[in-house]
Amino acid sequence: MRYAILADIHANLDALTAVLGDVEQQGGVDEIWCLGDIVGYGPEPSQCIEVLKRCEHVCVAGNHDLAAIGKLDASFFNPLAAAAIAWTAKQLSAADNHYLEHLPLTLEKGDFLLVHGGPAEPALEYIMSTSIANRNLAFFKSRYCLVGHTHAPALFREQEGSCVPVSFSPAIGLVLGSSRMIINPGAVGQPRDGDPRAAYALYDTEGRIMRLHRVEYDITAVQRKMMKAGLPVGLSSRLEAGQ
Ligand code: ZN
Repeated sequence: MRYAILADIHANLDALTAVLGDVEQQGGVDEIWCLGDIVGYGPEPSQCIEVLKRCEHVCVAGNHDLAAIGKLDASFFNPLAAAAIAWTAKQLSAADNHYLEHLPLTLEKGDFLLVHGGPAEPALEYIMSTSIANRNLAFFKSRYCLVGHTHAPALFREQEGSCVPVSFSPAIGLVLGSSRMIINPGAVGQPRDGDPRAAYALYDTEGRIMRLHRVEYDITAVQRKMMKAGLPVGLSSRLEAGQ
């Protein structure tokens, strides 16, 4: 079986479409595992939900998904994110709201636990360092945990009870072994690792190989849509910087 792991689409339809095109080029998948934050920041929240719904997929809730439907207090968001959430809430249809309301916070798929942020705080944890990854090891029982939320690809492997960071780049097809791991496929719609290309991962159960992929898309087209929607300029300029 083959799975595409997508996180942090953030209403960026152009990035999502480019990623789904790349998935097909790579031979397609049986199912998409989405790690949440389908909406927020970007100009096409409803369209991204629609496209995802047309795919065979499962998805967990991200903090932006919850904030957009009022299930999480957006006053804790930074001003740009909060402005985008207020705009997003107005774009969502009743069907979109229904879809977002029913997303679980965590989901188990075989050896994997899927969460948006981290197992300790499913929608909110930022696993940005080895020490945070270490602390989160105690909060999941499965062998592997898939996370998003930081918008940067990362991989931590358990070694003698604590985590060590492992290089995770498109050049390396990583064979998943018996060690427990926390794996972040980076962000589809708003990468923050200095590479503006959309990021996602492919997992093939045959050979147990996890590989990161980066995909170019038309960033200028998305920025034009964001300007037209009146979304904060800071959110569109960060797309080209990948920060
Ligand atoms: Zn996000």
